[in-house]
Amino acid sequence: MHTAAVIRGDGIGPAICEATQRVIEKAGVRVHWEEAPMGLEGRRRFGADVPVESLDTVRRLGVALKGPMLAERCSGGIVVESNGAVRRYPSINNGIRRELGSYVNLRPIKGWEGVSGRYRELDIVMVREVTEDTYAGIERRVDDDTAEAVKLITRGASLRAARFACDYAVRHGRKRITAVHKANVLHLTDGLFLECVRSLAADYPELVFDDRMVDAACYLLVKSPAQFDVLVLPNQYGDILSDMVAGLVGSLGLAPGANIGRDTTVFEAAHGAAPDIAEEGIGNPIGLILSGAMLADHLGEAEAAERIRSSVATVLREARSLTPDLGGSGTTRTLTDAICTAMESC
Ligand code: NAD
Repeated sequence: MHTAAVIRGDGIGPAICEATQRVIEKAGVRVHWEEAPMGLEGRRRFGADVPVESLDTVRRLGVALKGPMLAERCSGGIVVESNGAVRRYPSINNGIRRELGSYVNLRPIKGWEGVSGRYRELDIVMVREVTEDTYAGIERRVDDDTAEAVKLITRGASLRAARFACDYAVRHGRKRITAVHKANVLHLTDGLFLECVRSLAADYPELVFDDRMVDAACYLLVKSPAQFDVLVLPNQYGDILSDMVAGLVGSLGLAPGANIGRDTTVFEAAHGAAPDIAEEGIGNPIGLILSGAMLADHLGEAEAAERIRSSVATVLREARSLTPDLGGSGTTRTLTDAICTAMESC
């Protein structure tokens, strides 16, 4: 029996977490789940968006399944108070990642037969640095008509993200690392990021290194994604491009992910809380279910992880109970039922 934390999240979060827990169990992975409420539930139970009690649960267990969180536009900053110290973060997710020491967000996104059209062969791993860049939260209103934000890039964080990307590539038989940047304009910040990834990649002779300007990278990802393999990106470009790539394969609801830290790994889909559909029970659980397959891999349950991926592939190929984002009329529940049924013949 494994033990893991579950942060159910807001909006569609609780429903897709429950779906993922069902699928993991159906795949034969026995997990004792400990609740780690954050977001609205954190406020209800512990009076804080990111309660120290929940952070401690995740730190103690080292692994968590996480649903998405709601963050207010323009005023969504949060405060974490522990042992008399007060730390401020620009958003709840930013705060969770930084409190838990996550340093990259890993998003392996692939196309699927049945739903991804001309992008069905797409197979790209995005490695997004998540501790700094314009999301460090260093922002100020200069006067009524002017505001500014600092783009923070450090050698340490850039090398750490690059090392993770290269190690991941080698471990998974990937061949190419592409650094994404805008060093023709942001000479010093993106220039440093590029310099770090290039120098680190030189230690991996088995990998081909190249780089793309972020605008050209967007164009080429849409036009000819086969030329990409593993992308390593500063925080903001990573945030934006991973949603774009998810859109190419058919839905934001198909993109899994994991926040990797030294002592914790938190598995969460790329998408947000989808408040526009949260009351309808039609959130696509597949992104989180595929994150659940990554969690199973992490727990050493590779066969179960493969069973989960293969059932998802069957359901997508045969268009069984697909949710509306994929053109169907299924619900979170019926799509999850279909995945569980498909697993019986895997
Ligand atoms: P979103 O990802 O929640 O939704 C964007 C669009 O995609 C919406 O139309 C939504 O219905 C659709 N969508 C997203 N996931 C889906 C799924 N699984 N199934 C079907 N459709 C899906 O982004 P948003 O609307 O910009 O943000 C909503 C809230 O989520 C905001 O408060 C934002 O801050 C938060 N957010 C949280 C995370 C996270 O917790 N990791 C990530 C991004 C956004």
